[in-house]
Amino acid sequence: MTDSVLRVENLKVSFSGKDGKLTAVNGISYRLMAGEILAMVGESGCGKTVGALSLLRLIPEPPGKIETGSVTFNCKDLLKINPQELREVRGRDIAMIFQDPMTSLNPVLTLGNQIMEPLLRHTSLTHKEAWEKAVEILRQVEIPSPVEKMTQYPHQLSGGMRQRVMIGMALTCSPKILIADEPTTALDVLIQAQIIDLLQHLKEQTGMSILLITHDLGMVTEIAQRVIVMYAGEIVESGPARELFHTPLHPYTLGLKNSVPKLGQKKETNKRLVEIPGNVPSLNQLPSGCAFHPRCPSVMERCKIDKPVLREVGHGREVSCWLEGNPS
Ligand code: SF4
Repeated sequence: MTDSVLRVENLKVSFSGKDGKLTAVNGISYRLMAGEILAMVGESGCGKTVGALSLLRLIPEPPGKIETGSVTFNCKDLLKINPQELREVRGRDIAMIFQDPMTSLNPVLTLGNQIMEPLLRHTSLTHKEAWEKAVEILRQVEIPSPVEKMTQYPHQLSGGMRQRVMIGMALTCSPKILIADEPTTALDVLIQAQIIDLLQHLKEQTGMSILLITHDLGMVTEIAQRVIVMYAGEIVESGPARELFHTPLHPYTLGLKNSVPKLGQKKETNKRLVEIPGNVPSLNQLPSGCAFHPRCPSVMERCKIDKPVLREVGHGREVSCWLEGNPS
């Protein structure tokens, strides 16, 4: 069996505000295996991004607070190591890319300087060697005319090219793990497909593991080996991507699947896309019992009272739902 490179146990994260304390991530546990792409999916507000940022203690504290849990990487708990050790892990061992590259790229520094910065900080490369490595990285993420781009500024690139630069920057120190938070959301469909291809290609080349945060279940089936589905701060289903997409066990997963357009289907045979009714509940007004029950087409009386727990159902799958069979 493949080894895990990251083990998350019982991670619970809250935020304090004028409405009191809100639990954004409520005791999630999972493993990221060596060389896999693990996708975390769910609508906005389900806790995916907070969960991912907490792995590297990147949530603002206060108002955020990591209440419980552990994040084990290289036999160390990232939630307990000192700030110096954590800085070493960030960027060198675990890198992160975000939805909007413009918020992460410095507009007044050339791309070359920004790519070289982690190389000069985390490695013993000379300035000349760092320059050459930075050009090589731009080439690796398929940026045309990489030498020329070294002296350009972020605003001189298209959105897709900027995202490629961000991915390149994340890869400078050959991280073991890449956390990609909605890396394609701000891009048009064609460029999205190119970025997904690039991530897959880089994963195969480097052997790194990728935690991919997204709201798009359709996209993950093309790239991920396993999927975690989150709702209201908790994992409601997880399993191998293909099986989970073909036979969802949780009505929420089925709702996400039904809202994905199917490529290649003729218009006349294409079923109408079905939206999941209602909205993600506010974290300070979670419904009783199963948090999904007000939106669930399969809701039963029991669901309104008793909260289901995540249970293993075989073949590497887990689900948190009172239904015995598949939802419809
Ligand atoms: Fe729906 Fe009940 Fe399952 Fe919740 S526990 S997802 S309400 S069937």
